[in-house]
Amino acid sequence: QEEITRRSQAMDKNDTSDLRKFSRQAYLQKRRDKKIDEIRDEILDHEYIFQDVKLTEAEEKEFRYKKKIYDLVKEHVESADDVAEYKMPEAYDMGDSVNQEKRFSVAMQRYKDPEARDKMNPFAEQEAWEEHQIGKSKLQFGSKDRKRSSDDYQYVFEDGIDFVKSSVIEGTQHEEDSDQEDIDEKDMLKRELQDERKTLPIYKFRDELLKAVEEYQVIVIVGETGSGKTTQIPQYLHEAGYTAKGKVACTQPRRVAAMSVAARVSQEMGVKLGHEVGYSIRFEDCTSEKTLIKYMTDGMLLREFLGEPDLASYSVVMVDEAHERTLSTDILFGLVKDISRFRPDLKLLISSATLDAEKFSDYFDSAPIFKIPGRRYPVEVHYTKAPEADYIDAAIVTVLQIHVTQPPGDILVFLTGQEEIETIDEILKHRTRGLGTKIAELLICPIYANLPTELQAKIFEPTPEGARKVVLATNIAETSLTIDGIKYVVDPGFCKIKSYNPRTGMESLLINPISKASANQRAGRSGRTGPGKCFRLYTSYNYMHDLEDNTVPEIQRTNLANVVLTLKSLGIHDLVNFDFMDPPPSEALLKALEQLFALSALNSRGELTKTGRRMAEFPLDPMLSKMIVASEKYKCSDEVISIASMLSVGNSIFYRPKDKQVHADNARLNFHTGNVGDHIALLNVYNTWKETDYSTQWCYENYIQVRSMKRARDIRDQLEGLLERVEIEISSNASDLDAIKKAITSGFFHHSSRLQKNGSYRTVKNPQTVLPRWVIYHELVLTTKEYMRQVTELKPDWLVEIAPHYYQLKD
Ligand code: ADP
Ligand code: MG
Repeated sequence: QEEITRRSQAMDKNDTSDLRKFSRQAYLQKRRDKKIDEIRDEILDHEYIFQDVKLTEAEEKEFRYKKKIYDLVKEHVESADDVAEYKMPEAYDMGDSVNQEKRFSVAMQRYKDPEARDKMNPFAEQEAWEEHQIGKSKLQFGSKDRKRSSDDYQYVFEDGIDFVKSSVIEGTQHEEDSDQEDIDEKDMLKRELQDERKTLPIYKFRDELLKAVEEYQVIVIVGETGSGKTTQIPQYLHEAGYTAKGKVACTQPRRVAAMSVAARVSQEMGVKLGHEVGYSIRFEDCTSEKTLIKYMTDGMLLREFLGEPDLASYSVVMVDEAHERTLSTDILFGLVKDISRFRPDLKLLISSATLDAEKFSDYFDSAPIFKIPGRRYPVEVHYTKAPEADYIDAAIVTVLQIHVTQPPGDILVFLTGQEEIETIDEILKHRTRGLGTKIAELLICPIYANLPTELQAKIFEPTPEGARKVVLATNIAETSLTIDGIKYVVDPGFCKIKSYNPRTGMESLLINPISKASANQRAGRSGRTGPGKCFRLYTSYNYMHDLEDNTVPEIQRTNLANVVLTLKSLGIHDLVNFDFMDPPPSEALLKALEQLFALSALNSRGELTKTGRRMAEFPLDPMLSKMIVASEKYKCSDEVISIASMLSVGNSIFYRPKDKQVHADNARLNFHTGNVGDHIALLNVYNTWKETDYSTQWCYENYIQVRSMKRARDIRDQLEGLLERVEIEISSNASDLDAIKKAITSGFFHHSSRLQKNGSYRTVKNPQTVLPRWVIYHELVLTTKEYMRQVTELKPDWLVEIAPHYYQLKD
């Protein structure tokens, strides 16, 4: 509030230098807070993890020092706002750290007192340097001799990658180009969000678009990423009164996008997230009775058909990011097309970032195409001269190279997943730390699906002057999220793609080269607010000859069991003649039917059974839902839903800090006592956590991620609710591990394998052969080798007992 008042006062005086300072102060303040957070984390680590570890004397000393600081911080952050109450700490006999500590306590004082804050500052050195950097970069803007200053930096890095500039992707130069940068600077502060909305390319077409919606039932909308489709169209519809007749749904292929966009729109509308604007993703419903605009994953809308087959509560459905062609989106196409025939009042918008609009239009009976002319600046594309062996390393080098040689502008790096992002994050931090004042600050912002919500917003924060932001993102930044200020894109050319082998029924996530269409989308991200540059970490020959034109739609490369079960529960029996935009391979469809039959979800005529109907209630993979439904028989539903929730959280329960791997592994082994297998170990983790009353400290002590555990608890609560809906009693059978394992086997017998003589495992086809060790696994992961994740030993005769119809008993 204070900051805003100061800003507007300064605005009145038309004094921009002050404005700059204010926003800078806010930034520095934030930085201090962050440092304090870092220290606290470190202390918590020490307190909770190192308690039984022998420290060296030096470590001990440092620890005590940090602990002291932490206590100081805690005291001040948590309690007294009153600076006067603050007492200088006594000196501690810790050599040099005494001074540091004093400095810190003064800093703390200042932290609470803005006046004192400006007088003394423990971070002064760094801030002075930053000011200096800003001065330098300002000079650089004006200086013609930019080349020279970049030469100065040359010695900073020894390695470098040679790029060749190849092509310029066409773009229409925007008229306002010349003073863009100047306007931006002031506008960031001046314009209210409402004004900001008017600057989006889509704004000029608002009335035309609304007229088209009124006139036609189905419209295909095409517009460059960032033109405002996702955030604006639902608001326009709301303003035009559509929400008076029913909700407006907007589907997103990714949950991060659904959450982040909903947050943004609720801000723009000035309402609380979850009220008029909300989102719904699997296991997380952030909507209420009031909700008018609902962002949701495509999978969630698909599930809503189960409860409301005509989507009666909606007046508009916008299938966004249609070009992504996810499995759920493709199925939605068929379903919404179908209901649009008997619900003439339902409006359908199919929106896409790319130009394959003709195909969508054809599919929806020649629906009109509404094009939003893009604002796209030219993008210079650079390829590497030679292929890069290690794209992770190449990406790091390229980022640093851009940072020291290129004019201001943020960097966006496309990576394949969380692990890669974390690795690069760490290495970049490490490499820039050592450089001290030689280079400007590099702010590293990761974004991926499992990133905690509160950190997701960070990528949208404006970059402070003098610093450069580097966003490490998965494919999500390709078209789903628009990040302003990106001028450089680093594209290693890979992404994770799900692939499915219908013959073996094996599904895997593999790192694959992207398509040309993706590569061009990625490049385009650098040219949104001004001319940009894209650095491709592959050669132009690779681009021309090795990349496919388009990504294959997911429906043609995935396991369809889940979708088939959903469609069957919707009463759609004739799957072969379902109106697919691109039909799945018939082999995959048959495999899905076969799998559902084996799970007893379908009978031999392909009709849904009672088991199948119950399974469809769970928003889970059919194998997991079968395991839950089967727990009724073995009277262990209580344990089984805990296991299912833990499995649903994914691979993020345990963590292994690099320097404490042995401790982490030991902690983990405790849950395996008695060699109970991974599933029961997960159950042990959950139950023990519950016994500690969901203690955070316990998680620290056991190298368990508390966030993942909380998510598991949420999921478990919901599964418990669903058990009630399908009328399965909660019953506990903790002492009978075999019963629990049998319930698991009922769902996962497809995933059983036996140990081979050579030490590897093989999928079981004939369980009569007696061999030593039999296991059941949750999933297969393909890296350089295939390996099983979450494995539990089982008795082979269970297989025949549990799924006799699946195993043909040969000799
Ligand atoms: P499109 O769907 O056409 O790609 P969007 O509606 O997503 O475009 O984006 C329009 C504008 O809204 C962009 O300038 C983008 O930066 C901004 N925006 C979107 N989401 C957020 C967010 N969570 N925080 C801040 N700005 C956002
Ligand atoms: Mg969008």
